[in-house]
Amino acid sequence: MLITDLVDVLGAAHVLTDPDITVSYETDWTGAFQGRAAAVVRPETTEQVAAVLRICGRHSMPVVPQGGNTGLVGGSVPAGVAAGAVVLSLRRLTSIEPVDAAAGLVTAGAGVTLADVQAHVRAAGYGIGVDFAARDSATVGGIAASNAGGERVLRHGMTRGQVAGLEVVLADGAVVRRLSGLPKDNVGYDLPSLFVGSEGTLGIITRVQLRLVGLPAARTTALLAMADLPAAVDLVALLRATVASLDAVELVFGGGVDLVCAHQGRLAPFPGRSFPPDTPYLLMECVGSTDPTGDLAAAVETATGVLDAVVATTATDRERLWTYREGHTAAVNAVGVPLKLDVAVPLARMSAFVDDLRGLVRAMAPSARLHLWGHLAEANLHVNVTGLDRDDARGREGLTEAILARAAADGGSIGAEHGVGRAKMAWVGLSRSPAELAVIAAMKHALDPAGLLNPGVLVPPYGHGKP
Ligand SMILES: Cc1cc2nc3c(=O)[nH]c(=O)nc-3n(C[C@H](O)[C@H](O)[C@H](O)COP(=O)(O)OP(=O)(O)OC[C@H]3O[C@@H](n4cnc5c(N)ncnc54)[C@H](O)[C@@H]3O)c2cc1C
Repeated sequence: MLITDLVDVLGAAHVLTDPDITVSYETDWTGAFQGRAAAVVRPETTEQVAAVLRICGRHSMPVVPQGGNTGLVGGSVPAGVAAGAVVLSLRRLTSIEPVDAAAGLVTAGAGVTLADVQAHVRAAGYGIGVDFAARDSATVGGIAASNAGGERVLRHGMTRGQVAGLEVVLADGAVVRRLSGLPKDNVGYDLPSLFVGSEGTLGIITRVQLRLVGLPAARTTALLAMADLPAAVDLVALLRATVASLDAVELVFGGGVDLVCAHQGRLAPFPGRSFPPDTPYLLMECVGSTDPTGDLAAAVETATGVLDAVVATTATDRERLWTYREGHTAAVNAVGVPLKLDVAVPLARMSAFVDDLRGLVRAMAPSARLHLWGHLAEANLHVNVTGLDRDDARGREGLTEAILARAAADGGSIGAEHGVGRAKMAWVGLSRSPAELAVIAAMKHALDPAGLLNPGVLVPPYGHGKP
């Protein structure tokens, strides 16, 4: 029997079947996706992960890998996996190796949180080139599996650029290990890169080797209220061209910041002034070995359309400014389970896209509320809609389709940094050609012939994972 076999390998304490306990593993962070797990298993070692996969293979049981369960596209829970599934929690894989300063690398178990690996390398004088608000729960396995973006992509790129090596357990229990740490190692396909962003559909990541980045001695953060979005986009171009120390440019709007303030009981950012809800605010940060405030101020002084600005140079003030940005996801979720989309459109078309988006939502869902924010330097916009009828699946799908098709028509992406998961499955064809989809399907079938790894994510379910 499946459960007995799992208990034999992991012990009863780490094979959870009590619904009161498993429920938190079965529901995603947004509350929009929920499924039922045959069991939640919590291995502690790579060998145990391999044994779990072999057992699930013998029992034709789908497996849904889960890290911190902070993913925003429903990929970490067994929602809609009609065949049933074992949720494979990687959170107990928490070993961290000492920082390898000579190679500029650190290797951590998949279950180590982003905050913990950041703290670990900070103690040795380094940073990690990935950061975002869910750092206390998101795991390094999860950020690799979803190729997370976040707030430092401008300087360091997506997670893929930070992953130097991986250890992965394949569907049949075989272990693929590429942790040589060699920056030059062109022997065949780059396998770690293949698994980054595969969302648990090709293998289970058990260890992640991350590059170290320098810790800047000085940091300046500023929040600017802008006259309109074209002025904000122009400022991004100006900053890119003139401020070498630029590290992050994030976009929020007045209405979103008001929501964060109400949710957290905070004061508004611009003392004595308030702006209409559609006013774009830019949160920008510069870093350097010396104080970059002068560089940033010089650029902003020449910009047009700046309505107001606050600058922070102390850690406390910087954190306060970042909260206006990082508080968005939780503040919007507190309003109600949102329709959550994450698109990218070419920056030059961002303003027209946002105008059209507002028109679309007004026309298709007049009583709904649109919340927009994102990573402007990467032209990445998070589109959240609250106030939709949760039982009106067709209405939600219609709105999703219209928004994603609009992004795709501009040459944009329907899944900028959160990935595809279950949420965007139906619309992958808007962002990938039939030829690309055929390659994706071929890779999936080659590595997971029985279709047991995260069925229903990225690739239509087949084999034993088929409903
Ligand atoms: C408040 C908040 C802010 C966020 N901000 C950002 C942001 O700025 N940028 C961004 O990109 N994302 C952001 N996210 C989304 C999320 O945090 C990331 O996608 C994160 O990388 C997921 O890590 P996790 O450990 O929680 O993975 P999970 O949510 O558990 O899983 C994510 C996906 O990866 C798979 N998976 C997880 N672990 C493994 C593994 N070890 N092996 C194989 N597959 C695995 C799962 O099956 C699932 O498909 C945010 C989320 C929240 C709640």
